[in-house]
Formats: sequence, structure tokens, C-alpha cells
Amino acid sequence: MPQLDMSVPTVARTYDALLGGKDNFQADREAAAALEELNPGTVQLSKDNRGFLSRGVRYVAEQGVRQFIDLGSGLPTVENTHQVAQRAIPDASVVYVDIDPIVLAHGKAILADSPRTTVITADLRDIDQVLSEPETQRLIDFTEPVCIMLVSLLHCIRDEDDPFGMVRRYFERLPAGSALVYSHLSSDDEEFARKFTEQCHETGMDWGRVRSPEECAEAFDGLELVSPASDDSVPPQLVDCPTWRNGDVAPVPLPDKKIWEHSGVGFKRG
Ligand code: SAM
Repeated sequence: MPQLDMSVPTVARTYDALLGGKDNFQADREAAAALEELNPGTVQLSKDNRGFLSRGVRYVAEQGVRQFIDLGSGLPTVENTHQVAQRAIPDASVVYVDIDPIVLAHGKAILADSPRTTVITADLRDIDQVLSEPETQRLIDFTEPVCIMLVSLLHCIRDEDDPFGMVRRYFERLPAGSALVYSHLSSDDEEFARKFTEQCHETGMDWGRVRSPEECAEAFDGLELVSPASDDSVPPQLVDCPTWRNGDVAPVPLPDKKIWEHSGVGFKRG
């Protein structure tokens, strides 16, 4: 687990800085500013991703899924998973999981009055640990559908750690009806994807890479994607996050952007 070092940015604190939060240090703010300089619009992309997360959680809760494991949940911000889920289903269970202990430190206070919500510090690559943690076992009934959230996360995982095989291994452990809420930084411009990836690595952050839209879609192997249109008028596919089931906004699978969060929701069918 990473120790607190204020001189090296972390993904959780840099993302917090991009979202305009206060739980970050100078190095994180500099990393956020450098990403915004490289790609004007990174701040907006982060905010759009949070909007997608909310709509994804609400949609899955409305389909009757009552349990959520939010992997790589990040620092608490507005409209956190438990607030959205418990608005739809008051006794919904939410387990927040993050590798950065700062998330636990800040999460504990905010969750003190929510008995069906917890925060654990764990590496999502250690599936056994995540699923067998006492707090996970206390709140999650593995005979009932579970929503796994991998929102703006798998680009932090390197190819050698087999990010998409890992998604399959989580779902092998979950019953039919379980859901995936997912977004992944994507680009169809190889040169730009390489630059953005290099910039993240240069800061010292533990990071994977930006992937192509086709690669990002691998997360749904074996799952059934839902339509990204609110009225189901568009075939199931991944799209730019602000256009996923966002009222009358038309879903856009390949936006005219250098980088975006390729996003979707799917279910494990019986
Ligand atoms: N999911 C949140 C969202 O979309 O708003 C936060 C996304 S933030 C870009 C990625 C988060 O994943 C960070 O908080 C980081 O600490 C966490 N993370 C990165 N690698 C991880 C790992 N191997 N296990 C657990 N969490 C991880």
C-alpha cells in the first residue's frame, strides 16, 4: 500500500484536484494542471465522468440491484455512490474500495451515519482480499446480484496485470443479474494516447495506459451491454460518458475529442 508522500501525486488526489476538491497537495494540483494543459478539457471530462457514475448507479438500482462494490472509488465528493443508490433503495449496501489509504481516512467521517456503507483499503487486483474482507462479507450477500463499479479505473491498471481478465474473474464469483458500471480513458489517436500515458507515468503516479475504444469494450466480454440511450432507441454499446442515458442527449460512441471516458453498463445474464 502506498505511504503518504506529499511530493509525489497520487491518482486519487490528482482526480480530486481535477474535480475542484480540497483533499490534495501541491504535487497533485501540478499534475492536474499539466493534464489540463496537455488536454484542455480534462477538468470537464472528470466532471462528466462523475455525472455518468451517478446515472449509472441510479439506473442499476432502478433495475433492482441493491448491493454495490465501488472499486477505485476515489475520495468522497458530491453525489457519491451510496447517496445515489440509497436514494433509490434506502437499504442498499455500498462497499467503497480504494488502494489509497487517504480514501479510508476521509471516507470514515462522511460515512459514520450510514450503517450499510463502508470503506476498505485494498488493491482491486487482489480479488480474494476484496471479496473476503470482513466488511465486504458483512454488507454483501453473494447469493444476490451485485453491481461492480469500475469507473475511470482500469486505465490505472497495467497490461501485465490483465485488467480485463480481472473483470471476468470478478464476475465468475457473482450471480446472474449482477451489473457492471464502467468507464475507461480512451483515445483513437495512438500518438495522443501515448503522450497522455507518458505524462501520467512521468509524474510518478502508479498508472496503466489510455486504451483504444475496442480495447475498452473487452470489459464487457460475457456480459450484456444495455442501450446508451434513455429510450433504448440505440443498440447497446459504449459511448462518451456525458452522452450515456442522459435525457435527450444523443449517445456518441466516437466523439470528436482526443480523449474521453468510454462508458457503459452491462449485466451478467443467467
Ligand atoms: N471511481 C471514481 C470516479 O470515477 O469518480 C474515482 C476514479 S479515480 C480516477 C481512480 C481511483 O482508483 C483512485 O482513487 C485510485 O486511488 C484508485 N485505484 C487505482 N489503482 C487501484 C487499485 N489497484 N486498487 C484499488 N484502487 C485503485
